[in-house]
Formats: sequence, C-alpha cells, structure tokens
Amino acid sequence: MTHVFHRHLRHAPKLAVAASGMTFRDAEGREYLDASGGAAVSSLGHGHPDVIAAMHAQIDKLAYAHTSFFTSEPAERLADELIRTAPQGMSHVYLVSGGSEAVEAALKMARQYFVEIGQPQRTHFIARRQSYHGNTLGALAVGGNAWRRAPFAPILVPATHVSPCYPYREQRVDETPEQYGRRLADELEAAILGQGPDSVIAFVAETVGGATAGVLTPVPGYFKAVREVCDRYGVLLILDEVMCGMGRTGTLYACEREGVVPDLATIAKGLGGGYQPIGAVLAQGKIVDAMSRGSGFFQHGHTYIGHPVACAAALAVQRVIHRDGLLAKVRSDGEAFGAMLREALGAHPNVGDIRGRGFFWGVELVSERASKAPFDPALNLHVRIKKEAMAQGLLCYPFGGTVDGKLGDHVLLAPPFIASRGD
Ligand code: PLP
Repeated sequence: MTHVFHRHLRHAPKLAVAASGMTFRDAEGREYLDASGGAAVSSLGHGHPDVIAAMHAQIDKLAYAHTSFFTSEPAERLADELIRTAPQGMSHVYLVSGGSEAVEAALKMARQYFVEIGQPQRTHFIARRQSYHGNTLGALAVGGNAWRRAPFAPILVPATHVSPCYPYREQRVDETPEQYGRRLADELEAAILGQGPDSVIAFVAETVGGATAGVLTPVPGYFKAVREVCDRYGVLLILDEVMCGMGRTGTLYACEREGVVPDLATIAKGLGGGYQPIGAVLAQGKIVDAMSRGSGFFQHGHTYIGHPVACAAALAVQRVIHRDGLLAKVRSDGEAFGAMLREALGAHPNVGDIRGRGFFWGVELVSERASKAPFDPALNLHVRIKKEAMAQGLLCYPFGGTVDGKLGDHVLLAPPFIASRGD
C-alpha cells in the first residue's frame, strides 16, 4: 500500500528508476521512448551533463537563499538571459516554481497594475474555452475546461470564456483563415463590450493551445487582431507560453511567429527542462514601473521563488539550446516530424486532424472523418491509448473527455529537442 497521494487512486503508476537521453526505464527493466517530454517538459532529454554539472556547482556554492533577504547570481543571470532573448518590450522576470504559479502571479500582477494606476474597478478576466492554464484557483478560473472547473466553480474568480482558435472544428467553409481570425477578435471585442470595457483586466490565452485542445496553432493575423482589440480598451494581453514557449515550436517564444508582444508572458516546463521546478512571468516595463512608482512592491511571493539551483539549471538549459542550435533543429526537424506523422497516420479513418509546429504536434481522433464525430467519452480512449502506448514502450500524452460540452480525443507529441529522425 502506497502512502503517496497519487493523482489516480484506483491504479498505481509504474515506478520510474532511471532516464537518459530519450529513454525512461522502469523498475521492471522496461524501456520507454519519451515522445512527449512528460507533458512537453523535457526539452533537452534526460541526464544532460551540462545541466547536471551546473546544478552540482550551484549546490556546492549556495543551495537556497530567501528572496526577502537576498538575490542570487543564478537568478540575476537567468533574468538577464531571458530578457536578452525575449520579445522587445519585456523588461523584468518574476521567477516562480512552475506553470500554475506563473499564471497565478501574472493574473495578480495584471490586477495590481490597474490598482496602482487608479483603475481598481477592473476586476474581470476574459479567456478562451478549451484552454489550460493550470490547476491553482486563479489559473483554473481562466482555464477553459469546464470539466476541470466544475467542482470548484463556486469558489473561482469570475471569468468569461470566448472561442478558441480551432480551425479544424470552427472555421467556416466560406471563410479564409484571416477572416476567421478577424471573427474571433470581433467575438473578443463583443465580450469586452458586454462586460464593460472599464471592468476588464486582461485577455488570457495560450499562444499555441496545448493540453486541452491538442495543439491549436493560431491562424495568421489572429493574435495581431486580438492585440489591437485589447489595446483599444486598455485591456492587458497575457500570453501563456508555459507549454508552447522555450523553443517548443521552433522559436524561443511562440508569439514571435505571430508578431505580437504580450504585456505579460508566462513560461515554465521547458524553462527548467524538467531538471528543476521553475517558471517565470515576463513583464513589460510599464507594469513594473507602475508598481515601482506606486506601492513599491508586488503583493505576492512564495518561499521558493528564484531558487538558486532551479535558476542555475534553467540557465544551463538556455545555454545548451543556443549553443547547440536547437531552435533551428526544432524548426527543420519539426517539419519533417509533421510530414512523417501525416504520412503514417494521415489516411487513418479515425484521424481527423494532424496539426502543430516545431516539436509540438497534436493528432485529433474522430469516430468518423466526414462528420468529425468524436468518440463516445465512455470509451475512455485516452486512458487506453496511454496504456497501450506504454505497453509498446512509447510515452505520448493523450487527452480526452468533455470540454465545454464538446467531446474530443487527441494525442499530444512533444519530444525532447534532441530527438533524432531515427527516434
Ligand atoms: N499553462 C499551460 C499552457 C500549461 O500547459 C500548463 C501545464 O500543463 C500550465 C499552465 C500549468 O503548469 P504547471 O503544471 O507547471 O503548474
């Protein structure tokens, strides 16, 4: 009997004992090819010597310092590096321990910004259906998965959810991708007007949708139109790049491809590459300036923020990504990966859509291609796929179930950037 409070209480997970490069090993000696980097976390694969050496060196020097007393070298250097490579306009990095924490901090930063500049009446967030922003209460409130929210709905901050950018299911046949993007931006504008423009804090979106919708890449122009709408009403744009950022789509930030700069961006997962729990919020100067001129502090904080060993690991991950040219590799091998997926699965009668960018791909499963009818959720297809894939030595990341009344099953593939074409 286990004393660990596991996620699933009726079946025990396998015991992982080692991992190296692209491969995990369990206690029974079975090996698994890591085709999803856990949940799109392991960007450099497992056991990378440079990251391990950086962590060892940091532990030997300074393992922990509380941020109310000290800053640390790795925190300062990581923030410098992140700003050096961030979209223009980002000036500060708030270091946390994971994705939900980053989203939570970004929501509070956005709210406090308006309090500082004399607009305390802004209390409402707008986000998208079929999105995922984490499991803490604030992140859950903006997340667009009604099933996840349901048990906690009565205790969540109010948020309105608009349509995701989901061309496979929601772009009309008489619409170009640009017209579809424009229609979605109009929907956002209507939601802001419906809510009362002076009461909206921010629009929150994943630049490329991940866990809940199976990799939703935005149509061209969508985010530019969204940025314009936000600017028209003084609403902040928070882009959640916890899953799609840090090189996963072939650029360090997915928003680089969209030609927009958010007011706040959240990153995690690939930031530490799985070596340490770390996340961050990148903020534009105006947010930090407002706090610095006003109350003089951000009314937030956790014990482990800016952890020196986590920062040292993340800095080493960044250096390897740039030194080894992994962004270019992800771009070129990502195209090949997409082509391989299409060749292998594109004609399958139960594959409705294959979509993605870089090393971030989703395969949407349907019971019938013509009608795009999803499978009956009672089949628990995602659970069976995961189990069967593991039995065959493959780790992939399937998701299924009811999302805002819509049904869907998809499999997310997000291999480490070191994956070879042979893998
Ligand atoms: N935001 C996005 C887009 C995510 O994909 C996730 C996790 O999957 C989170 C936030 C939450 O991150 P964490 O699980 O590290 O709390």
